[in-house]
Amino acid sequence: TQAATRISVRDQFPGMAGGWHYLDTAATAQKPQAVIDATVDAMGRDYATVHRGVYARSAEMTLAFEAARRRVASFIGGREEEIVFVRGATEAINLVANTWGVENLGAGDRILLSTLEHHSNIVPWQLLRERTGVEIDVCPLTADGRIDLEAAERMLTPAHKLVALAHVSNVLGSVLHVEHLVELAHKVGARVLIDGCQAAPRIKLDMAALGCDFYVFSAHKLYGPTGVGVLWVRSEILENMPPWHGGGSMIDRVTFERTTWAPAPQRFEAGTPAIVEAIGLAAAIDWLEQVGLDVAEAHERELAARLREELGQRNDVTLFGPADSVGIVSFALDGVHPHDLGTILDEEGVAIRAGHHCAQPLMDHLGVPATARASFGLYNDESDIEALLKGIERTRRIFG
Ligand code: PMP
Repeated sequence: TQAATRISVRDQFPGMAGGWHYLDTAATAQKPQAVIDATVDAMGRDYATVHRGVYARSAEMTLAFEAARRRVASFIGGREEEIVFVRGATEAINLVANTWGVENLGAGDRILLSTLEHHSNIVPWQLLRERTGVEIDVCPLTADGRIDLEAAERMLTPAHKLVALAHVSNVLGSVLHVEHLVELAHKVGARVLIDGCQAAPRIKLDMAALGCDFYVFSAHKLYGPTGVGVLWVRSEILENMPPWHGGGSMIDRVTFERTTWAPAPQRFEAGTPAIVEAIGLAAAIDWLEQVGLDVAEAHERELAARLREELGQRNDVTLFGPADSVGIVSFALDGVHPHDLGTILDEEGVAIRAGHHCAQPLMDHLGVPATARASFGLYNDESDIEALLKGIERTRRIFG
């Protein structure tokens, strides 16, 4: 029955038709029909603006948009007034850097990041460093590719005002023990931002239990649309954050002399929001919760373990990352550039990612310019692993 469930999951994804072996879910997930239908209805039958219209259709759209916010809140165990809709994780981190960061971080203060961060959790802090003089420290990794929390404990000082780390590495699939990190960071008075892009689709989240201060993720990696993402900020912090983008919807009263701001979260949502996409995100959450986050995590861990076991039997493959990856496997095939491997695999109908995965400091640490990466979603099964292994075998024959 488990196999039957998987087949029926796969059948819900029109993007997976035709026997395509899609192994790039860490970049972006395919969409189930339920999400496609929800966005089509929101863009067609139900479409209107939100927050302004006096007519019934707009009032209904506003209800649907705000229901999507509540849906996100319940999904992560947060409160609806703590949910800011942004374009994605990248915008969420830039928003925090440009508001909370500009207000609270300056010369003499320090931020702790890690070697495995995605560029979107490095570059915004470097831009902030240029503006404010805040310093950046980099927490090293353990030998198997986890953020080394013993090192973090040694490195953290009262000068650290922020620790910003990935919940799950988009390259290695390693999982951060967020509760432990939060304990260490809060002990020195640092706030904690968690980049949850790769965790939200795979791990049941509860903001109260995690204890962090900021949490960010993108809808498109969670079986939802592009163009929308979530910034969650603990309300005591969010209430006091200054605005970033100015425009419609984020104001209380505008005059040329002086403008006052709307309360959070509206203060951070200038302009017409991604209405259709937010409704699509709510549909994606409905879909994912119906399947079950526990099922997603177990399924993707199992596939990752299976692939690692198979690749581990080859003496021409180097595996990166820990044995207990949550659905993401990076590797190198001796003597073959990842791009060549990816190109040959594409001829076999197998889609992997080859490159630096927006994590160049991690590539430097691993001593490679790029890796090949296979990442799993709920629609994947053994047949995808078999196709990948077959493609690797053919590549070996071509390259000798
Ligand atoms: N952080 C991580 C860990 C990611 O995997 C990604 C997407 N590859 C991002 C941040 C950035 O997300 P987005 O491009 O949707 O803003």
